[in-house]
Amino acid sequence: MADKRDYYEVLGVAKNASDDEIKKAFRGLAKKYHPDMNPGDKDAEAKFKEAQEAYAVLSDAEKRRQYDQFGHAAFDGTGGAGGFDFSGMDMSDIFGDLFGDFFGGGRRRANDGPMKGANLRTSVRITFEEAVFGCEKEIEMTLKDECPKCHGSGARPGTSPETCGKCGGKGKVVFTQQSFFGTVQNVQACPDCGGKGKIVRDKCPDCRGTGYIANKKKIQVSIPAGIDNGQSVRIRDKGEPGVNGGPRGDLLVEIVVSRHPYLQRQDMNIYSTAQISYAQAALGSEIRIGTVDGDVLYEVKPGTQTNTRIRLKGKGVPSLRNKNVRGDQYVDLVVQTPTGLSAEARELLRQFDEAAGNSLGRSAGAEGASTDRPKKKKGFMDKLKESLDDI
Ligand SMILES: [Zn+2]
Ligand SMILES: [Zn+2]
Repeated sequence: MADKRDYYEVLGVAKNASDDEIKKAFRGLAKKYHPDMNPGDKDAEAKFKEAQEAYAVLSDAEKRRQYDQFGHAAFDGTGGAGGFDFSGMDMSDIFGDLFGDFFGGGRRRANDGPMKGANLRTSVRITFEEAVFGCEKEIEMTLKDECPKCHGSGARPGTSPETCGKCGGKGKVVFTQQSFFGTVQNVQACPDCGGKGKIVRDKCPDCRGTGYIANKKKIQVSIPAGIDNGQSVRIRDKGEPGVNGGPRGDLLVEIVVSRHPYLQRQDMNIYSTAQISYAQAALGSEIRIGTVDGDVLYEVKPGTQTNTRIRLKGKGVPSLRNKNVRGDQYVDLVVQTPTGLSAEARELLRQFDEAAGNSLGRSAGAEGASTDRPKKKKGFMDKLKESLDDI
């Protein structure tokens, strides 16, 4: 793993390359090193695999983000849901997209060999705290299973599906297509039989000829601590059934994290604000700050200015890779200017201001105004102060 080359380097693109640039770079390398173009060339094969792997990660926004953050460690498979397992990736999708059937070997799946079932996708909503600490969720999914009555053939028991006339049972038809290689013979799933090569005339009554029965199933989803909004958890073998004895596809559960009333998250850090009074800021005070671990007491220092940012170490989000490593919580202390004061409070504040050497009309601000600003402005401020006194 340590010897792996940087994926961007493998594809020869910049770190900020667009999806198109990545696709284009991969196409170029795949054309050059594809095993079908270089029979028996081990070096080309290795280069092809390397490019394939780099493309699989960089062409997937989520995986690319993980890679940018953690490097190859994101995919070494030792971590929680953050690790990606390449064995589950359907490379034929990439080649289907890029090459069609040009490289015959890449599309043998249309024949009758075992084929992995398609992946299913769903989403689950969790709270802010559940994302931070991880949780178990039970979801209900409708999964297809082979029909026990016809054993997946779709034909009424005692009858057999007929061979498709259009494709002669091959399940695919050949047609000519323009592609970036020029004119190529392309092969597509037969439209009459949907690629099965067989047509069911007398349908199984239980599955109405589909060969599958849909069952509602409860599925446990283990959501790891530190997961973020938009990330997915892969559950093996809970996708669509495989074809011709192939394994089932996987279920990809996208995590949707609800907003928290006063905490915000960015990656592993949490942000919040705490309101403190003018007196608390000036004199210092113990305040309570809400965190995902419950309230903590914090000693505000005397003379704290508004918008002072403090750090609560280790009160952030755990790393997906290691839940013992946690981010921090940053709290902006915001000094509240008092409003709606009683006559008594106003009088005390005036006395305070005088004691602090800032009596009205001689404050630093007013002096500044008399030198830096037009006289008119000072007159307005004085009037405003007078009118406030009348309230
Ligand atoms: Zn059936
Ligand atoms: Zn057919």
